Amino acid sequence: MKTQEEHATHTFCCSCFERHPRFDVLELSCKRRDEDLLHAYCRDCVKGLFGACLRDTTLWPPRCCGVRISVYAAAHLLDPKLVTQCETKDEELSTPNPTYCSNRSCAEWIPPSNIKAEVGKCYACSKDTCATCKNPKHKGLCPKDEDVQQFMEYAGKQKYKRCFNCRTVVELEMGCNHIYCRCGAEFCYLCGDRWKTCACDTFVEGRLFRGHVTQTPGSPIVMPEEDELPEPNPIEDVISGLQQRLASFTEGSFDTASTDAAKCSHNWVRSTSSFDGKEGCNICYEAVLVINNCFQCGVSVCNMCLNNRL
Ligand SMILES: [Zn+2]
Ligand SMILES: [Zn+2]
Ligand SMILES: [Zn+2]
Ligand SMILES: [Zn+2]
Ligand SMILES: [Zn+2]
Ligand SMILES: [Zn+2]
Ligand SMILES: [Zn+2]
Ligand SMILES: [Zn+2]
Repeated sequence: MKTQEEHATHTFCCSCFERHPRFDVLELSCKRRDEDLLHAYCRDCVKGLFGACLRDTTLWPPRCCGVRISVYAAAHLLDPKLVTQCETKDEELSTPNPTYCSNRSCAEWIPPSNIKAEVGKCYACSKDTCATCKNPKHKGLCPKDEDVQQFMEYAGKQKYKRCFNCRTVVELEMGCNHIYCRCGAEFCYLCGDRWKTCACDTFVEGRLFRGHVTQTPGSPIVMPEEDELPEPNPIEDVISGLQQRLASFTEGSFDTASTDAAKCSHNWVRSTSSFDGKEGCNICYEAVLVINNCFQCGVSVCNMCLNNRL
């Protein structure tokens, strides 16, 4: 039996549906129109919510009924470590063209303050990642760098060649096709092979009279071959996938249900599955014990998707 006094000092958690003392909950000013009580989250549920939001970017930013829950509003119920993680996540998701650790088993976000001269150092595993192409740090200039791409396009048009040994770009103006590179390698200007290993002509008419090799301006241009670069980091695919999912959630469209669901104003009826079976959420596909069904449109969603995702 609830006394009047208990009603004043306790409130329901909208996530676990249990009564908790008011000092130990986060009280919000939102509710769904079919509910009487304003939403509140107990200590465990608010921790669970922020933890879930950190793990699943589509839940970010933490929100209830579409209203953002500031981590500072909940800070008195959260571990300081979790608060810091949330601040970092905010910074990560607001960084344009973010860099993630190229060590696939790590894949931590590398904050801009850890990126020097386009090389990011992972604070978690210390591995270096190229902030331009997102691959592990590589020697030479980055082939994904716009300036480098422009130069290589220009170099291609100008008939520059790269030394097979050190990859310095050299230009032959006129004369013999025999190139002496500054690294000591000798190669054929026409095909780029080691000198005297190919069947090309030694001379090209028009080049016969002035033979010299010019180094391209500035320091030698050294480029890794395209096939020497590791596979692109799949984390980029993961992120774009999450962003697409997030976009479809914010449009309010359900993955599996008909267009009726998008138009429905929903009348949620909460039910608890029997213990031998769990029901699946139509949005996150999690099997849960407590499910909300709308009998108007036939959609079933879990509590977290209903309060914190939609
Ligand atoms: Zn709770
Ligand atoms: Zn709410
Ligand atoms: Zn790492
Ligand atoms: Zn690179
Ligand atoms: Zn060379
Ligand atoms: Zn040749
Ligand atoms: Zn509905
Ligand atoms: Zn769900």
